[in-house]
Amino acid sequence: MSLLVVGSVAFDAIESPYGKVERIVGGAATYFAVAASFFTHVNLVAIVGDDFTEKDEAIFRGRKIDTLGLERAPGKSFFWSGKYSEFLNERLTLITELNVFADFNPQLPEKFRNARHVFLANIAPDLQRSVLKQVKGTPKLVALDTMNYWIESTPAELRETLKHVDILVINDSETRQLSNEHNLLCAARHIFKMGPSTLVVKRGEYGAMLVDRRGVFCVPAFPLEEPHDPTGAGDSFAGGFMGYLAGCGRSNDAALRRAMVYGSVLGSFAVEEFGPERLRKLKLQEIHARARHFSKLTQFTL
Ligand code: AMP
Repeated sequence: MSLLVVGSVAFDAIESPYGKVERIVGGAATYFAVAASFFTHVNLVAIVGDDFTEKDEAIFRGRKIDTLGLERAPGKSFFWSGKYSEFLNERLTLITELNVFADFNPQLPEKFRNARHVFLANIAPDLQRSVLKQVKGTPKLVALDTMNYWIESTPAELRETLKHVDILVINDSETRQLSNEHNLLCAARHIFKMGPSTLVVKRGEYGAMLVDRRGVFCVPAFPLEEPHDPTGAGDSFAGGFMGYLAGCGRSNDAALRRAMVYGSVLGSFAVEEFGPERLRKLKLQEIHARARHFSKLTQFTL
């Protein structure tokens, strides 16, 4: 089953204690689409400027990614720049330039409109909603990611969009900011009142937690000795998570648990190199091998 994603396709400048890149293809939808395409067909909706060349677009080629919805407009592509602290656990956003995203009015190609699985990656909430409105009928699963930038600058639009969302996939500080609750279980209860029935909290080096009416499920982050760049780890997590669910066509408890593991697997590969470089080289066999490793990591007897 195919998976529709709308979000940023960007150029990023990244600095971490392991190095620096001035300009690398990034964006939430980029990481998401590449990660999800290991499990299912991905229909990408985004906009880039005329500075985004065929060579840049090559990241989507040779994968199950349909770029018919990748619009080109005169001007510059979305640009983001960030710097990580010594132990990679803190990130400072230096620059966010919306550029062509500022006037983006996404139009879904006809063949994308029957989407049953939708991921509204991190982008302005009104754009997320406008994409959702163009989907015919009621999708089986709608998930959404957002960040402090949108929680602070467009809270009303975000609240409106959340009413139409099944799964909210955000990080721990954003969960707290959105709900005004420090405790993540209390935060989940609060967020359920906004629309979503499932909350997935991405907790960086502490793994991820899923909360729904059945209870809580946690996965660790894969222990790595030398992570290089956490950029896109959350989007890659979401790609593995939603890609797995769309690929298997189920969203029962067992499927959600496996999706959490595949999310964590994709997130762990993303941080191994700068930008999306590790994901570009990744093979499906490596994904399954790491998922088996995860199973061993968390097995115990009572
Ligand atoms: P993550 O590390 O998962 O939070 O995602 C990093 C990616 O998100 C980068 O590649 C950025 O281009 C993109 N990004 C950063 N800020 C924004 C924003 N305000 N809206 C959309 N995408 C963003």
